[in-house]
Amino acid sequence: MLKVWNTLRRSLEEFHSLKDDEVGLYTCGPTVYNPVHLGNFRSYIFEDILKRTLVLLGYRVKHVLNITDVGHLVGDGDVGEDKIEREAAKTGKSAWDIAKEYEAKFLKDAERLNLIPPSIMPHATEHITEQIDLIQVLEKKGFTYQTSDGIYFDTSKFPEYGKLSGQKLEEKEAGARVEVNQEKRQPSDFALWKFSYPNGRSFDSAQDALRRQMEWASPWGVGFPGWHIECSAMSVKYLGQPFDLHCSGIDHIAVHHENEIAQSEAAFGRPLANYWMHNEFLLINGGRMGKSLGNAYTLDDLVAKKFDPLAFRYYCLGTHYRQKMNFTWEGLEGAGQALKKLQTTARRLLVGAQFIAPGSNGPKDQGVMNHAPTGFIHALEDDLNTSQALAIMWEMLKSDLSDEDKGLAVAKIDEVFGLGLSSIIGQSIEVPAEVTRLAEERCTARGAKDWEKSDQLREQIEAFGWRIEDKNRGEFELTPVS
Ligand code: AMP
Ligand code: ZN
Repeated sequence: MLKVWNTLRRSLEEFHSLKDDEVGLYTCGPTVYNPVHLGNFRSYIFEDILKRTLVLLGYRVKHVLNITDVGHLVGDGDVGEDKIEREAAKTGKSAWDIAKEYEAKFLKDAERLNLIPPSIMPHATEHITEQIDLIQVLEKKGFTYQTSDGIYFDTSKFPEYGKLSGQKLEEKEAGARVEVNQEKRQPSDFALWKFSYPNGRSFDSAQDALRRQMEWASPWGVGFPGWHIECSAMSVKYLGQPFDLHCSGIDHIAVHHENEIAQSEAAFGRPLANYWMHNEFLLINGGRMGKSLGNAYTLDDLVAKKFDPLAFRYYCLGTHYRQKMNFTWEGLEGAGQALKKLQTTARRLLVGAQFIAPGSNGPKDQGVMNHAPTGFIHALEDDLNTSQALAIMWEMLKSDLSDEDKGLAVAKIDEVFGLGLSSIIGQSIEVPAEVTRLAEERCTARGAKDWEKSDQLREQIEAFGWRIEDKNRGEFELTPVS
């Protein structure tokens, strides 16, 4: 039985899906104005592990990940420029091209990290009608008001505001910094629609320089959607309401998710999602890694230092998703070494090759079920305890199980870990010709009892990164040093 920590009720709960065998999962995706960094990818890796665990446990997962390609402003309190428009102005590219460029980059990086693509990946710019419709529902029900720069959600009309973060509205207000937008009734109110031309300036009189590239007509005036409304509009469209699971990093709890809940639940009078799961931050030098903080590494930075992107995936598995994780190059190096060792081990499990023929969909297709050690499944069922699951995998590999059983188990385990092992199990590595020549020469030297020469040749072989082990009757085995 899967148990997850539900942020909404601040407790560990048994997971029960709305439908027997299908789970609706919504994860907040990137704002595509610059490269997605490793902190963000910690979040996407956690969500991928969750998804793969659900599949291992027998569910089909309908996963929606949105692409924010409009409306995310630089300032928290609905002030400042749109991040994408700002990047366009800075680079001279169009806002549409900026969004396309960084979405493509995100998808390429996601593939390098073995993230299973979402079932649906809706874009905010392609769901303007749905967002306007939802704002109209809220307007009819009396949850909105207009200021000189947009339409706002009145959080005082939604008594449950703050239930996800456990903060009452009054506490939020007391803690809030001085709001720049003086027209808001409460600091926690948020924009549903923003005008391109605030303060009563008309569309015609607008100066070209102020003109946004991304804007649409609406019942309230030309403008663009606020950041939060896209998630409410797209989740109900693709998953219905309520749906099962909603995830992101913890930074989204207090504002973005609280606002999603307010909009969706005020509009339809039903819960938005049954379970809310949030990952802790990836830190660097003790502080949060963040785009705007200027301390963020990307996957390209890792690759430039000759790291396998999957080393970062392995690194993330070592820390529970609800624990803070401090990024260090030494830590990544250690994870990379462990991954190499795992790959070498997987290559030696020859029997696996019969099951995971290239082009097949993995062992599941061939009736190979339940080969993961029970402890491994239990660790994942315990709120995705990946570090324990890793330890169980290594114990299993050290045990006296047959190579065949180990191969099957690793293939099954990798359906969740996603370290690309299935495709290399049983894939013997070609020994370089020079290494073979040295090994044969050493064999002859041993036959002639020339131990000194034999030792020299062993050293030469090791310098190539290979280990030689002598077997019976002058035979030998060569294995790459992991
Ligand atoms: P954003 O593009 O800012 O909406 O972030 C995308 C995802 O990454 C969200 O789920 C964030 O909560 C998450 N996130 C942002 N920074 C970090 C970090 N340093 N560590 C872990 N997750 C993060
Ligand atoms: Zn969202």
